[in-house]
Amino acid sequence: CSVVGVYGNENASKLCFYSLFSMQHRGQEAAGISSSYEAKIKTVKNRGLVTQIFSEDDFKVLKGDMAIGHTRYSTAGDDSILDAQPVFARYGLGEISIVHNGNLVNAKEIREELTKKGAIFQTNMDTENIIHLIAKNYQKNTLKERIIDAVKQIKGAFSLIILSRHKMFAIRDPFGFRPLSLGKIKSGGYIVASETCAFELVGAEFIRDIKPGEMITFEDGEIKSEMIFEPAPKQCIFEYIYFARPDSNVFGKNVYVVRKQMGRELAKELPVDADMVVPVPDSGVAAALGYAEESGIPFEMGIMRNHYVGRTFIEPTQEVRDLKVKMKLSPIVDKIKGKRLVVIDDSIVRGTTSKRIVRMLKEAGAKEVHMRIASPATTGPCYYGVDTPTKEELIASKMSVEEIAKYIEADSLAYLSIDGIIRAIKDKKENYCFACFDGNYPIL
Ligand code: 5GP
Ligand code: SF4
Ligand code: MG
Repeated sequence: CSVVGVYGNENASKLCFYSLFSMQHRGQEAAGISSSYEAKIKTVKNRGLVTQIFSEDDFKVLKGDMAIGHTRYSTAGDDSILDAQPVFARYGLGEISIVHNGNLVNAKEIREELTKKGAIFQTNMDTENIIHLIAKNYQKNTLKERIIDAVKQIKGAFSLIILSRHKMFAIRDPFGFRPLSLGKIKSGGYIVASETCAFELVGAEFIRDIKPGEMITFEDGEIKSEMIFEPAPKQCIFEYIYFARPDSNVFGKNVYVVRKQMGRELAKELPVDADMVVPVPDSGVAAALGYAEESGIPFEMGIMRNHYVGRTFIEPTQEVRDLKVKMKLSPIVDKIKGKRLVVIDDSIVRGTTSKRIVRMLKEAGAKEVHMRIASPATTGPCYYGVDTPTKEELIASKMSVEEIAKYIEADSLAYLSIDGIIRAIKDKKENYCFACFDGNYPIL
């Protein structure tokens, strides 16, 4: 998912819209915006892409100089319209609306507890728990105190933005699993967004990342920072591998630069004697460029991508996923005929894409196809906001590398090591989560 919040700009909801558009890759199922105007919060949300949901009329409703927005990629709950965000509520102190990127690991316990005490839920989202925890805490007088109490009861990944009548709050969990950055808008006010690519689009300057465990309060035109948790950074390494957009800077580094360096490390660790380096577009392009530069093997776009097909991984059934991969990727036959190819992708999840690609390239006359993956084998699910399937569906959880190579019909297959990734990011391993690759889950 992606989240955005704009504070102190008369075009707040419009700027949220543009930001969400630039972060569409983080979730394509649903989107929504809430804005606060004259102590009332209005929300427009629906299923579909950002450009399909909002019309000019909506921005006449979404007035005010404060707004928050969300694009949804279902990790918890299902994909009904009820499960679109922002989640809005009227409670003891007025109205609030909330957007959340991440996944709570104790959502079920909290919901059972709240339901026992009479709470009624309207959605399947773990995010709704947070709003309940805030609303029911009538012992505390201020919203801020209530929010702090609430987030201390939840566990897991949360980059949160909360909008009230006159304030906005941005919070990152102590592990900082998901990114969240702060910027200053040139035409006035502040922006908080999952990815800095949004800043570029709305004319904002990057100030800094919100720290793991930090809460920023936007109030009376000012921003105030406080640490509400002891930070214990475990930032998601998969943001670099696949999730974030290459032009964004996440966790202090540019994603494209890191990805390209991963490709270089891949070439050092796992060289192949081949004629051509071919990326699986788009997610494999940066790593393939790095691989080509490091190995000296020429880079060619041997596979074309049809951009009218969205991210295929999100499709619910295997049949549709297979068909969509076919619709999405096709070979440039003249380029690859008779050639020995190194094909670079960012990751293998179920094996659908790789299998289809190898077959397609062989049918197009490739002499050899060597798959090189710019991440370690994905052996476990993510509980922190990336929608990897169950362990059983992950091909690397039940097959060895040799077996996968055979299954996808590649001449060889190899994955980048965790050490290779560390060398590429040039940072301390302990600051990052690698759980879906090494099974060390920071919180369960
Ligand atoms: P597979 O076909 O093996 O199931 O999935 C691998 C492909 O899906 C890769 O090309 C990779 O770029 C993409 N991918 C990997 N993880 C994710 C994810 O969490 N979400 C989406 N949308 N795509 C993913
Ligand atoms: Fe990221 Fe994987 Fe950790 Fe999930 S388990 S937060 S995808 S590194
Ligand atoms: Mg891909």
